[in-house]
Amino acid sequence: MTTPRLLGDAHTHLDQYAPEEMPGVLARAREAGVGFIVCAGTTLDSTRACLKLAQEQELLYAGVGIHPMEAHQQVDDAIYEVLESLARSSPRVVCISEIGLDFLPSSPDHEIQDQVFRAQIRLAKSLKLPIIFHSRESHPEVFRTLREEQAGEVGGAMHYFQGGETTAREAIDCGFFISLARPLLRLPELQETARAIPLEHIVLETDAAPQPFKKYRHSWTEPRHVLTVAEKLAELKGLSLDEVTQVTTRNLAGLLKLPAFSSQLSASPPPNNSGRGLNAES
Ligand SMILES: [Zn+2]
Repeated sequence: MTTPRLLGDAHTHLDQYAPEEMPGVLARAREAGVGFIVCAGTTLDSTRACLKLAQEQELLYAGVGIHPMEAHQQVDDAIYEVLESLARSSPRVVCISEIGLDFLPSSPDHEIQDQVFRAQIRLAKSLKLPIIFHSRESHPEVFRTLREEQAGEVGGAMHYFQGGETTAREAIDCGFFISLARPLLRLPELQETARAIPLEHIVLETDAAPQPFKKYRHSWTEPRHVLTVAEKLAELKGLSLDEVTQVTTRNLAGLLKLPAFSSQLSASPPPNNSGRGLNAES
């Protein structure tokens, strides 16, 4: 056995996997050095399923949230209370997620999405939980909402980031980390962004969910692939895998308030920080 690498996966939908898949998925994640994984809820039921998994499996933590694609009705007092009681029900809840806006043509009514997003930002702030958010075809509206609701007070991460440097810097300016996933392996613009953004603002994820449309089961994205993303980021930045792992894991463990994982990492800052400094004033 080598010294365990410690990676964290900021965003998955493992509740969507068949229960019999779970032991294999988790064993492969452990083998890749993944020490903690967030399962994000997309509906109230899915949130309950994520919570159950997080209580059963040492590796898993839960996010409470209604996904914008599931935002078919407003968060009224009754729904808010359910979300709040789920979020308070266990220390395994580490974030409000998956929330956000999605403006694909097939997405729910934008006004309802906006109300659902804002209600959940308020919940996150009231519980002092970070927000891991989704944004598709809706970046300006998402950033405006984050600023209006002062979501930076709790911070969080922009999940499955695929944008350019300007977008990344705006997310950082709002108080959020950039969460990189497997698209980093293939999108040149994203690779440029990853080179430009300091490691101090990056976390890693996989967004793992069953992918029956892929021809082979072994090509489905799983939390083990967070290692592949880390390797690619190290290559792009000219850093060691160790440094990328340490910094991104420290970022995520700090965000999710998982001190046990932060303390497993070396206390000393990495020697050579890549990327240009970010100007807080800009
Ligand atoms: Zn997701």
